[in-house]
Amino acid sequence: MRVTAGIDLGGTAVNYTFITADGRWLIDGLCEHPARAQEGPDICLQQIDDGLAIAAARAGIALDDIVVVGLDTPGPASATGLLSARGSTNFVHARWASFDIRDALERKLGKPVTYLNDGNAGALWGHFAIFASAQATSVSAIVGTGLGGGVIVDGAVVKGRKGFGGELGHVLIPYQSIPHIAGLKPDCNCGRTGDLESLCSLTAIRRTLLPFFLSRYPGHELAAVDSAQAAKRVRGMAERGDAMCRDIFRVQARALGLFFDEMVNTFDPDALIVGGGAIETGEEFQRWFVDEIRAGMPVQREEQADIPIHIMPNGDTAGSRGAAIEALGFARKSGLL
Ligand SMILES: [Zn+2]
Repeated sequence: MRVTAGIDLGGTAVNYTFITADGRWLIDGLCEHPARAQEGPDICLQQIDDGLAIAAARAGIALDDIVVVGLDTPGPASATGLLSARGSTNFVHARWASFDIRDALERKLGKPVTYLNDGNAGALWGHFAIFASAQATSVSAIVGTGLGGGVIVDGAVVKGRKGFGGELGHVLIPYQSIPHIAGLKPDCNCGRTGDLESLCSLTAIRRTLLPFFLSRYPGHELAAVDSAQAAKRVRGMAERGDAMCRDIFRVQARALGLFFDEMVNTFDPDALIVGGGAIETGEEFQRWFVDEIRAGMPVQREEQADIPIHIMPNGDTAGSRGAAIEALGFARKSGLL
C-alpha cells in the first residue's frame, strides 16, 4: 500500500492521519501523541517520529508505505515552513526562532515533507471534504481562539509571497453596519480595529463582545464569572437559547456575513465554509448560525445569491487531514504515487 501521512503539530499534541492513493482515510478520529514543543526542536522532532510509528501501527501500514509526509503547524511561518524569528505562542523555546521545521523533519524522517500553516491545512480539508479533487474555489473561516482559515483557488491553497495568504482574521470589515453595536470598538492583537478576528473569535468574545453585552444585560449570570471562563461558556449558553449569548453569536455571524460578501466579490467562489470550535454544536444551532451569516450578507447579484455555506466536517482532524491532502497532491505531481 502507498499512502501519504498528515501530521498536525499543535502546542501540546501531534495528531496523525493517513490517506491512500485513491483517497481513503485509514484513521477515523484523533490519533494523538504528546508534542513536547516547549522543550525545543530536538525533543519535539523525536516525538513526531515516535508518534508516526505508533500511528502507522494503528493504521496497519508499514513506515515504508508512506511516500510523502504533510506537516502543518500554527504560524507565523513562511510558506516553506521557516518558523518566525520572533517565536510564537506554540514555539516559545529559543531554538524554534527561525527554525526550518519542514527541512528538519524531512531529514529526520528521510522522506519528502510538504508544509502548510494550520489555518490553510484546515481550509484544504474543508474544501476536499466538499469537492473531493475537483478544481473548485472555496473560502474557509475557522473560528477558534483566533480566526484562521484559507482560500483554495482551483483546488490549490493560496499561500502567498511570504506565507501569509489566507490570513483572513486580519481582513478589515465594515462592522459599523452590524445592527445594535453602536459604541463597540473591536481592537485586534494585530493592531487593527474592526478586522474579522476582532469580532469573530473566542478572543473577541472575552475582550470585546462579553463586556459590551454584559453592560446591556444587568444581572446576567456570566457577570459574576472570570472573563476567560465566561467567554468559554458563551457558546453552550447560546446553544441553549440564552438571549445575551445569542446576541454575541449573532454579531459574530453578521461579521462573517460581511467578510464572506467581500470574498464573494473577490473570488466568486463555489462555496463558503465555516469551521472551528465556535460551531462544534448541535445541528439546530449550526443552522441558526448559517442563517444569521446569510442575514448579515448584503444582497448578492442574482447569479451569486445561491452560494452554499457549509459547516466544516470532522473539525478536530481538519489540520492533519489537510496536511495529508497537500502531501497527496505533491506525491501525484512528482510521480511518487
Ligand atoms: Zn487582526
